[in-house]
Amino acid sequence: MPGFELFGDKERNELNDVLDNGVLMRYGFDGMRKGHWKAKALETELENQLQVKHAQLVSSGTAAVSVAMASAGIGAGDEVIMPTFTFVASFEAIMMLGAIPILVDIDDTLTLCPEAVENAITSKTKAVMPVHMCGSMANLEALQAICKKHNLILIEDSSQATGATYKGKPLGSIGDLGCLSLDFVKIITAGEGGAVLTNNETYYKHADHYSDHGHDHVGNDRGAETHPFLGYNFRISELHAAVGLAQLRRLEEFVAIQKRNYIVLRDALSQIPEVTFRTVPEGGIESYSFLSFFLPDLEIARIASTSLKENGIDACFHYYDNSWHYIRKWEHLTELKTLYPISTEVKDGLKYLQTKTFKQSDHYIGRNISCLIKLSWTEDEVKQRAEKMVHVITLTLK
Ligand SMILES: *Cc1c(COP(=O)(O)O)cnc(C)c1O
Repeated sequence: MPGFELFGDKERNELNDVLDNGVLMRYGFDGMRKGHWKAKALETELENQLQVKHAQLVSSGTAAVSVAMASAGIGAGDEVIMPTFTFVASFEAIMMLGAIPILVDIDDTLTLCPEAVENAITSKTKAVMPVHMCGSMANLEALQAICKKHNLILIEDSSQATGATYKGKPLGSIGDLGCLSLDFVKIITAGEGGAVLTNNETYYKHADHYSDHGHDHVGNDRGAETHPFLGYNFRISELHAAVGLAQLRRLEEFVAIQKRNYIVLRDALSQIPEVTFRTVPEGGIESYSFLSFFLPDLEIARIASTSLKENGIDACFHYYDNSWHYIRKWEHLTELKTLYPISTEVKDGLKYLQTKTFKQSDHYIGRNISCLIKLSWTEDEVKQRAEKMVHVITLTLK
C-alpha cells in the first residue's frame, strides 16, 4: 500500500516548485509564490479524481475526521457509531470534540456491521462512521438507508482505501462527508496530511474556516478576515501538498500494481479449501492494498501468523493481537487514561466499554490475517511469496 515505495523525481519536481519560491504556507503570499498553489491544486485534483464537489486538505487523517465532524456540528455529548476494528485515530478524533465513540461489531466485510449499527442507535446518536479498512469497504447502501431512516450523518473514513470504489463511486465521495489520510504508510502519501471530502456547501465552508482558525478566507488581506466561528489550526503545508499532488497523479498506477500482486497471492491461497476471503459488498471494487482472509479458528490464525513471520513473510497482520487496530488492546481507551480531566458526560458515555463484549468482531478478527500488498515487489518475488504462503498455511492446517 505505501506510496513511499515508489517515490522519486515526480515528487521532487513538485517539491522544487515550492522550494524555489520559499512560500511554504498554503494561504496568501500571492506575489512571492510565482503562481504555485500546491494545496489548491491538490484539492482540485482530489475533487476531480474522487468525484466530489469539495476537498479540504488538512494536516492529517485524524484531523480530517475531527474537522469533518466539527463541520457537521458534532460536539459535546453526541454519540458517533464506529467499528471495533479501525485505527485508534477514529476514537481520538471523536473524543477531541467532546463527543462519545460508540464502538460496535464488524462483520465479514471487516467493517461496520449494519445490524450492529442499528442496534446501537440512541437519542444521542448523531453520526455513523464506517471505516473502510484494508482496501475494502463497508456495505454503504445498508448504512445509507439506516442513516436516512434515523436522520444521521454518514461519515466515511477511507484512509485505507483511497482508490477503491463502490457502485462506481470512489470511496469517500458517498457519505455526507469523507475523510482520507496522506500519512507516510497510506496508498498515496504527502508525508503527513489528510482531506475532508463533501458535496455539501455548508460543511465545506465550515471545514475550510475551521481548519484555519475560523478565518473566513474572504478578500486578499489575511489580517482583515473575520471569524464567523472559533477554529483551530489543522492546515497542511505547501511542502506536503506538493508531494501529495505528485502521488495523487500516480494513484491509478499504484492501484494497478497492487491489483496485479493481489491476484497472484489470492489465486494461490484459493487453492487451500480452509481459506476463505473477506466479503466485498456487492458493487465494490477494492484498492487491493491488502489481501484479507480467514482461517478456521483463532489458534490456527495465531500459529499461521507466527509461522509466516518466521518464514520471512513480512507485513501479514493478525490484528487480534495487535494494539493499534483492535479494541482488545485499547486499554488507554477502555480505562480512560487521559492526560487531562474529561467531562463526566464522556466518562459516563464510555462506561459501556467496561462490560460490553464484541463476540462477532472477535469471531472475524480472531480468524483473520491481512497481508499488505507492496508496490515494490518484482513478479518473481510475488510468485515466491505466494508459494511460501501456501506452504506455510498448509503446514499449519495439518
Ligand atoms: C491512518 C489512518 C487514520 C489517521 O490518519 P493520520 O494521517 O495518520 O492521522 C485514520 N483512519 C484510518 C483508518 C487510518 O488508517
